[in-house]
Amino acid sequence: MKESIYTIPINEAFSSECHCPLCSIYEKLEDDLVEASVGAAMMEPDRRIETNEKGFCKKHIEQMSLKKQVLPLSLVLQTHIRQQIDTIFNMQSKPRMFSKGKKETAQKISQYIDGVKSSCYICNTLEAQMQRYAENIVYMWKKDEQFKSKFSEKSFCVNHLKLLLDIAVKDLGENHFNTFFDILLKNAKASYEKSYNDITDFVNSFDYRFKGELSQDTKTATRTVIDKFIY
Ligand SMILES: [Zn+2]
Ligand SMILES: [Zn+2]
Repeated sequence: MKESIYTIPINEAFSSECHCPLCSIYEKLEDDLVEASVGAAMMEPDRRIETNEKGFCKKHIEQMSLKKQVLPLSLVLQTHIRQQIDTIFNMQSKPRMFSKGKKETAQKISQYIDGVKSSCYICNTLEAQMQRYAENIVYMWKKDEQFKSKFSEKSFCVNHLKLLLDIAVKDLGENHFNTFFDILLKNAKASYEKSYNDITDFVNSFDYRFKGELSQDTKTATRTVIDKFIY
């Protein structure tokens, strides 16, 4: 299970100052995927089979357009909308045998649009990659004493807390799991409480009786809560 392609970025993320090491990994992977999705390779029609099928969410299309690679972006969009046109209007022109008419076709079209809306080449790829990273983190925690001590210093955002809990339930035996769970929850509680105290101090600073200086963590408390604890 231990794969060196994962250990280096994991060790780097756990050695950096960040609100969640898995978010650091995610942001790097996301940027690489956005870059690749408007890279020169996407000029090849064969490379666009998967993106034609899955499409992109609004957030990732916006990030792709910020890369200012106008021709690859337009080619990706051109063949993706061709696929949508072919699918939607084939349903319209070839109603299935024994179909209940246009209402049934309308429902099928609506389902197809829901499917495209809920899929994104970048989101789907990231989800699979983050699963692999989390599996390797749990594995390294079990096998590598040095990593275990780095891990015990860190807390995670709520999404990655959930991911680590799910993987640990699946991959660790009872004894290892109990230790892992206690460390994870202890740090998560400390992190939640710290953010709660920081945002409370920030709120209280609006009181006209407030005097004094705000710490850096208090000034950025609202942003931290959004980044770390909003699902
Ligand atoms: Zn995170
Ligand atoms: Zn996406």
